[in-house]
Amino acid sequence: MLKKLVVLMLASVASIATAQHTTIVLHCGQLLDQPGHAPRGKSSIIITDGVIEQVLNGYVMIDPAPGADPIPHIDLTDTFVLPGLIDCHTHLTFQLPPMQDRLRRTLTEGITHATIDGVVNAKKTLMAGFTTVRNVGSGGESIYALRDRIANGTIPGPRILAAGQTISVTGGHGDRTNGIRPGLSPATGPDVGIANGPAEMRHAVRERIRRGSDLIKITSTGGVLSNTAAGVGQQMFDDEIEAVVQTAHMMGRKVACHAHGTDGINAALRGGVDSIEHGTYLDDESIELFLKTGAYLVPTIHAGKFVAEKAEDPAWFNPAIRAKAEAVGPQIQGSFARAYKAGVKIAFGTDVGVGAHGTNALEFVYMTEAGMPAAEAIAAATVNAADLCGIADQVGTIEPGKLADIIAVDGNPLDDVSTLQHVRFVMKEGKIYLQP
Ligand SMILES: [Zn+2]
Repeated sequence: MLKKLVVLMLASVASIATAQHTTIVLHCGQLLDQPGHAPRGKSSIIITDGVIEQVLNGYVMIDPAPGADPIPHIDLTDTFVLPGLIDCHTHLTFQLPPMQDRLRRTLTEGITHATIDGVVNAKKTLMAGFTTVRNVGSGGESIYALRDRIANGTIPGPRILAAGQTISVTGGHGDRTNGIRPGLSPATGPDVGIANGPAEMRHAVRERIRRGSDLIKITSTGGVLSNTAAGVGQQMFDDEIEAVVQTAHMMGRKVACHAHGTDGINAALRGGVDSIEHGTYLDDESIELFLKTGAYLVPTIHAGKFVAEKAEDPAWFNPAIRAKAEAVGPQIQGSFARAYKAGVKIAFGTDVGVGAHGTNALEFVYMTEAGMPAAEAIAAATVNAADLCGIADQVGTIEPGKLADIIAVDGNPLDDVSTLQHVRFVMKEGKIYLQP
């Protein structure tokens, strides 16, 4: 392909390239700098020390300061460039295996195995164009180690906002001891996220924060993959949810709430949670509560499709889990469509760890299938997700002062969103991880 470079020499731009700073220039064929708005044509992004310095029309060339190294100009002229994507619902240290293997792993493997898996999954996620994730549930200290070693550059991966261990009631969706005989059961209690009554809920939240959680994850209802035939209705009492939310907000943490059943969705929204994850059986009252409170829905259609498919394979689930997977899985996409059409705020999330790590962008296909335009699906994974994560001042758009989290794909994702499944270029905080 013949590439024509429009060369503009800008004295004011050249002056920022000094020997002490690292500058890099991206030449973009098209640029969606502000998702939700129209993309720009040929553009240049000037990045200094990992931060976006300027976004300019045309292809700008910058000379280095006298005696300094040449400034790299990265040719993305045959690609479509957009902000790094954000997945608000991942489980990086977990990948769901079939039933027998899951039982074996529960009994024979510990947190160290999970942490090593997390290293591999974090790299897959970054290479798929996801430069930030909100990890909403993991065992032990694994996610904090992963988050911190990615943050200091030891290993490649997305920026992680970590919930740490999920908070659940005894026998609830987040109780890892479900179905395991007492002599073999892992520890239980608020220190490991199993809490009953408002006092223990406060204790569990404070313990998460003490260990380093950036947000709090709770399960107000049953869930598909917990080893119990307890359904997917409400499991946390209203006063337990309220105790979590009050304690978390008091200490500057948002609350993400896993919820399938209508009663548990609405109780969580009334209790003031910041997001509902899944939202499978949401109703008109739920929509009213979403609109009133401003909470986000994080749909996770990806996981719904995955468990519905695996429910047909007898090797995957025991009967208790299969029954829930068959009921819940096929519902999620329709509930998302209903919420979207009613004006509920949507933040992108997949629940990968259920489905395969690195396939996060499949969610865009499911969102658009359900009637959301590609432009809004991309906004859900950038500006909206950044807002839910509380980091909209740092990421989510490409504009001066924000971190240089930038990806590129072939073709225009506003026309064909599936192109986001084939990312060609990944930059996080100005460092290039994948280049065409
Ligand atoms: Zn999840």
